[in-house]
Amino acid sequence: MLPHLTAQGPPKSIMIIAYLGRNVKEYREKFLRYLDELELICPGCGEKTVFHATYKRHLHIEDNVEWLTIQRVICKECERTHAVIPDFIRPYKHYSACDSEMSLRDMDNGIPVEQVETSASISTLRRWAVEFREKSHQIAGALKALLFRFYKKVVNEIEFYGLKIFLILERILEEFPEIESNNLVIGDTNILFTSNLSGMFV
Ligand SMILES: [Zn+2]
Repeated sequence: MLPHLTAQGPPKSIMIIAYLGRNVKEYREKFLRYLDELELICPGCGEKTVFHATYKRHLHIEDNVEWLTIQRVICKECERTHAVIPDFIRPYKHYSACDSEMSLRDMDNGIPVEQVETSASISTLRRWAVEFREKSHQIAGALKALLFRFYKKVVNEIEFYGLKIFLILERILEEFPEIESNNLVIGDTNILFTSNLSGMFV
């Protein structure tokens, strides 16, 4: 076989972000009930999934480390497994989406990194800020593309001139139908990206 045909490797597992409760406490009590009510579609191929194994993942909440059980689902069609992550967690991050969103907003508003109220370290905050700055316009672009593709809506770019990135993202998110969520820009964006098979995360 030609090398370029084998280079792809096994299909990648993609996370699913969903509303599974308001916080760690509610997640622990009810995540299985929330999961039962959702029809979780494979973000790889769009087919139905069923429950698979679980694993533990940690999350920093203020000065505590909380351990959460995360459910994986498996696609009946392509057999990929996907972790189902609550919208108050950012994929690959160990601070809550709420904590990092508040911190990113503070920094975006010009608050010096040393004065941002969070338990994340200054180096973590700096890393988040750089990542977010690099990614944020790509995120806005992807949201606009989804809005057009699925709802045939276009947002007027002129009104974004001079706006902070979180306000721009909020403005675009307002155009989507209401979803059950923790109303975080980061969480809502991740839920929308998941349900539209984009494979991208904030
Ligand atoms: Zn699949």
